[in-house]
Order: sequence, then C-alpha cells, then structure tokens
Amino acid sequence: MSFERFSFDRRIAAGVKFVGYTVPTPIQAKAIPVVLRGGDMLGLAQTGTGKTAAFVLPILQRLSVGPRGKIRALIVAPTRELAEQIHEEIVKLGRETKIRSATIYGGVSKGPQLQALRRGVEIVVACPGRLLDHVDAGALDLSNVEVLVLDEADRMCDMGFLPDIKRIIRQVPEKRQTLFFSATMPEDIRMLADKILNKPEMVQIGISAPAETVSHALYPVPEDRRKELLAAMLKGTSTGRVLVFTRTKHRARSLAIYMEKQGHRATALQGNMTQSQRQQAINGFRKGKYDVLIATDIAARGIDVSQISHVVNFDMPDTVDAYTHRIGRTGRAERSGEAFTFAIRGDGLMVKQIEKTLGTKLERRRLPEFEYGSGFDPERQFLQTSSSTSFSRLPKSFSSRGGGSRRRSR
Ligand code: ADP
Ligand code: MG
Repeated sequence: MSFERFSFDRRIAAGVKFVGYTVPTPIQAKAIPVVLRGGDMLGLAQTGTGKTAAFVLPILQRLSVGPRGKIRALIVAPTRELAEQIHEEIVKLGRETKIRSATIYGGVSKGPQLQALRRGVEIVVACPGRLLDHVDAGALDLSNVEVLVLDEADRMCDMGFLPDIKRIIRQVPEKRQTLFFSATMPEDIRMLADKILNKPEMVQIGISAPAETVSHALYPVPEDRRKELLAAMLKGTSTGRVLVFTRTKHRARSLAIYMEKQGHRATALQGNMTQSQRQQAINGFRKGKYDVLIATDIAARGIDVSQISHVVNFDMPDTVDAYTHRIGRTGRAERSGEAFTFAIRGDGLMVKQIEKTLGTKLERRRLPEFEYGSGFDPERQFLQTSSSTSFSRLPKSFSSRGGGSRRRSR
C-alpha cells in the first residue's frame, strides 16, 4: 500500500516524497481516510507509530483549499518539544502548499509568536497555557477553527492541563472536526473524549502496550551500584544513541556529570534548563554530538530521535503508562530498539504491573563481569513478586547491537 491511495493534492504528495515516507504506518493507513472524510476520531496508539502525519496530512489536504490567513486548524500538545516537532512535520510535509504554521508555548518571549500571528497563519501548534494567555490578551482568534487536534491527551491530563483544555474547547466553534490522540485511555481521558467528540470513529493500534519492535530486559541491581552499572554497560561499546530516564531533574544532571567524567559524551535534559539549553541538548543528541541523553519524563516528552538504540530506565517509571511512553522513544517507526530497566529493592510491584501490560515476563539479565557487590542476590530484589523468578546469566554484553544477538521478549 502506498500514499497514492489517499489521492492527496500533488503539492502534499510532493511533501510526502520529500520526507521519504513510502508506506503508511498502520495508524496512518487507518486514520487518514477517516480524517479525510471530516468526522471526529479517537486515535489510540502508542508513541512512535506515526500519529503526527496521520493528522497533519489530512489537515493540509483540507486547508489546501479555502481561505488563507485565518487559524483554521489548532493542534494542542503537552510540551514545547512536541509542539516544535509537529510544526516541523507540517513545514516539511506542507512545504509546497504555502500553508503557514506557528508554534505557541511558554518559556520563550511572546514577541515572535505575536509577529507570526500577525503575519497570518492557517495552523497553530500550541501548548495549552501560553495559548490561553494569547487568547486572553485578544491576540489570537480561534473562531475560525475547523479542525481541533488534541495530541497526547493522556499526557496533557497527567500534566494538569485538563482545565485549560476545557477552556480551549469553549473558544473554538462547536461545529468543527475534533481529533483526539492518546496512548492510553484512563477514565478521565475517556470522559473528556466522550464529552468533546461527536460520534467519533475509533482507530486503535495495539492496546496501550509498548512498540512491538522493542525488546525489553530487566537488570536487577543494588541501588548504590546503578551509576557504575550504567557506565559499565556503555563502556567501550558502540551502542548508538542511548536515552536514560531518571525520576528527578537533580539526578539527571548529576548522572550526566558522572557519565561525562567516565568519558561518555553525555548531557542532561531536564525542566530546569532554559529552552535554548534544552534545544541544544536535543539537537546535540540528534546530530551525534552526544551519545547519551539523560532526561526526566516530562523533559523527554516527544523527543524524536529516530536513531535511539537503547532506552535505559535508570529509575523505575512511576506508572505503566510512563513505561510505555519512555519505551516509545526507541523502536520508532518499526526500527527495533532495546529497553533496559534497572530494578532496585521495592520495584517488584511495578515490574509485575509492567509485565501484566506487556503480557509477558521481562527477561532478567545480569551484566557479566560487573561487580554487583558481595552477597547481591537478584531474587531478593523481587520479594514482592513471585519467588520463582529465574535469572539467566547471559554471556551477552550490552554491546551486541548489530551482532545479530538482539533478544526479544515477545
Ligand atoms: P507518534 O506521534 O505516534 O509518536 P511520530 O509521528 O512522531 O509518532 O512518528 C515517529 C517516527 O516515524 C518519526 O521519526 C517519523 O518521521 C517516522 N514516520 C512517520 N510516518 C512514517 C512513514 N509512513 N514511513 C516512515 N517513517 C515514518
Ligand atoms: Mg506524536
């Protein structure tokens, strides 16, 4: 199947060719015809499945006819990184359409955003808070919006944006097309969707499980040996790009410093950094200046570096959803990746929940020749789960990428 089947305007088809997409991803194949028909849609798919183009392409198609200089599509996203990525996708796919898009988010000055709005745009990609600031200031008119997209709705709710989203919905015309994307469907999201969607078609890919192209493994480790384990894993290997998650900003920063001292090209990405520092970290990672990016969940939202080879959960994620989101950073667009989760004492329950969602047991691994400390017994790490957990000692190091020995746990 190819993109030709959708009969896009030739300028849009040229954009698809420009970005090099040849075969639609499963969510694109299912969602694009639905969105083109103009009805509401509820898209349920994990990260990395190609949702952005699934809504951007039909929006470009719709906007390629009709008035210019009015905000006709509003895309709301949880973080500025994600907003920038969606904007970039619009610019690339729409490069021959002359359709204009602007990003609106906090943490940067309002001036350039206001200028872009004054010059006239057809698409706004925005984070909720700053969008409402502009609306309140009368700088932004949402009365011509024909299509409203809520991207990563579950994450927006996690981040406390639900009241803002409700306010935004009151600002757009009632007669509109609404597209709602989420990786998971907790109760509050289901209720919001019920309320704002009109007879939606449901498009679902996978069921809230991480990308199937990712293999998962668990590394039980004493809490105070995690830094050393990470350094040992990455030592002298060509692992590609490694994204490491920590729970706190402080730990992201200190771990980046530690890894740098160990001779790795590492940098942190966390919420205390300025927008330009964050952009520098992401760009440096994307372009290969850094091999290791150490990030907090929120800061890492929406990072799309297609060559991420490994995700390492230095700290266990707080929820299964967070696990799904983190792991979605690797294995994007059906490239395969590996996800390693460090488990310390007390993490057993979370491991159990993740395994329930995955529908499979995570493979337990032990890094050969690593000094775990005398008396370390991985079984003890999981006292809260079953005592029959078995641990394989694999003659396999972290550096097996390309060596043909990538393991799959499903
Ligand atoms: P999601 O929003 O579902 O997390 P994205 O839209 O960010 O996923 O897409 C993930 C990655 O897949 C991006 O690098 C994107 O460029 C790539 N991609 C999207 N659609 C296709 C396609 N049809 N063919 C190849 N790569 C694609
Ligand atoms: Mg997305």
